[in-house]
Amino acid sequence: GAVLGIVGGGQLGRMSAIAAARLGYRAHILTSEPDGPAAQVAHAVTIGGYDDPDTLRRFATAVDVVTFEFENVSADGLELLAALRPVRPSGDILRISQDRVAEKTFLAGAGIPVAPWRAIGAPDDLPAARAGLGLPFILKTTRLGYDGKGQRRVHRDEDMRDAFDALAPHPLVAEGMVDFACEVSVMVARGLDGAAVTFDVTENRHRDGILDLSLAPARVPEAVSEQARAIALRVAAALDLVGLLGVEMFVDRDGRVLVNEIAPRPHNSGHWTMDACPVDQFAMHVRAVAGLPLPPAVRHSDAVMKNLVGPGDMALWPAILATPGLLPHHYGKQEARAGRKMGHVNVLFPAGALPGEFGVDAALGPLGGDCGLL
Ligand code: ATP
Ligand code: MG
Ligand code: MG
Repeated sequence: GAVLGIVGGGQLGRMSAIAAARLGYRAHILTSEPDGPAAQVAHAVTIGGYDDPDTLRRFATAVDVVTFEFENVSADGLELLAALRPVRPSGDILRISQDRVAEKTFLAGAGIPVAPWRAIGAPDDLPAARAGLGLPFILKTTRLGYDGKGQRRVHRDEDMRDAFDALAPHPLVAEGMVDFACEVSVMVARGLDGAAVTFDVTENRHRDGILDLSLAPARVPEAVSEQARAIALRVAAALDLVGLLGVEMFVDRDGRVLVNEIAPRPHNSGHWTMDACPVDQFAMHVRAVAGLPLPPAVRHSDAVMKNLVGPGDMALWPAILATPGLLPHHYGKQEARAGRKMGHVNVLFPAGALPGEFGVDAALGPLGGDCGLL
């Protein structure tokens, strides 16, 4: 059978490998973690550094097509892979999403609305950015940030320089603070033939910088969800995407949709599709990368996804297993460190019946009451 090569050994690779197996493909994982979430379920594993030429060559020649769940492979590494096997999504897309300045420049060039921003190469760039963006603004590292790491909010002029110094690696980007009504995301898949599908718009809530809850469909007006889907399709087409892409967006108080960032891979905010859609984001990812047809990205149920983060949430695992209606997913990580994503739980509601916030809390059982909902 054909072999799908997945760069990265985390939970996104694990769930992609499981979806690949269901479609008859073998998953071969490139990872530095021999017993990590993806390696545990893979057909084969190459252990090594993501930028080591020998490792990359050994991995690429053992697979038929390469995709990613880990995005921070060097440009040289990408070139090496692309010379040996098809890489989907392409290295060009990865390079754009690896760097917030490249990403915002690309989006603005494609006519996609983004929050106001300034590139910050050195402390000298701060005063002009502050003048243009006003207070407060957010400083972010251009590369390697995730789960809200690598960013600082600047509320006062006096704090600007400290925030700059505290963040690494430089350079940085400064973003105007968006006073958003809510955050949403759209998962879009696009095939080799350019045909694309979008899953339902998802409403996302964060806690301590980490995604906490996703609700599908997002409780936003039809005009907002249409904008969000149209933006995701436009981004996918502008990138000439082959594969799956998560588009994170802000909905401002006037119902305008701005793109925050993009991720050319399965996305945490798409995990609800695993139980609420006949073809979930991982199956869609595998299909797109393997050049298979993309079925409609329909939803048979409404859904709420709750992330299980760190030892606190995992202490509830036995209670979660004992609660009817909770659909648990475990990533197989050995150690529940603080802030680490260990698994997630989906809860389904009849289509069109996603209840009010009190109802969500109640349906989450042992996980409810403490999820930032009323
Ligand atoms: P992820 O884990 O999604 O990759 P990240 O570390 O790349 O996150 P961002 O998505 O840029 O970081 O920001 C994390 C969160 O911080 C956002 O989801 C949003 O809640 C808030 N945030 C980021 N930028 C802005 C902004 N310009 N205005 C308002 N809130 C923002
Ligand atoms: Mg990010
Ligand atoms: Mg984000």
